Amino acid sequence: LHNMYKIYSTDEVETVALNGVNLEIEQGDFVAIMGPSGCGKSTLLNIVGMLDNPSDGDYFFFDENIAKYNESQRSELRKQNIGFIFQSFNLIEELSVAENIELALLYHDMPSAERKKRVAKVMDRMGIAHRANHMPGQLSGGQQQRVAIARALAGEPRLLLADEPTGNLDSAMAGQVMELLEQIHSA
Ligand code: ADP
Ligand code: MG
Repeated sequence: LHNMYKIYSTDEVETVALNGVNLEIEQGDFVAIMGPSGCGKSTLLNIVGMLDNPSDGDYFFFDENIAKYNESQRSELRKQNIGFIFQSFNLIEELSVAENIELALLYHDMPSAERKKRVAKVMDRMGIAHRANHMPGQLSGGQQQRVAIARALAGEPRLLLADEPTGNLDSAMAGQVMELLEQIHSA
């Protein structure tokens, strides 16, 4: 990121959420961004995750400057390259564990058999295969976050982003989720 700005404007106020941020992340890095509530972490992650555009500045993703990409260009690049994990899991309550993960792959051009194979593989890797047919509401917070991580990994992204992924978990569960993320990184 080069000299990145994000300014939120409403009728009343202008909020400078990112004030000239420079950041370089290399392939293989494991990075934590820390700071008090409201300092701009989610804003930064949403831009890095291609969910939002900066007000100014450049964003080079594998040498491609995407800061000025429009919505559809961004979303195309995002689905090929990025997995996102949220504090509140964001699973769909009406779908089973396996269906939640498979949903993430429906946006990829992939035959159904390959999709099922991928889903089985990530469930296995995240230790949730025995919960494939459960609904999210039947799982603990830690298990739900494992499902969300599996969903983020299913597309085999080059970049995995997590916005306060342990914020809704007790400290034991939080420790497990962080360990899992470290394992994924070193694998
Ligand atoms: P963090 O994730 O570090 O808590 P955020 O990135 O959510 O911080 O917010 C940074 C600042 O930008 C805050 O002052 C917040 O109120 C403001 N902000 C975030 N999103 C919006 C928005 N959609 N509209 C207006 N202001 C926003
Ligand atoms: Mg935040």
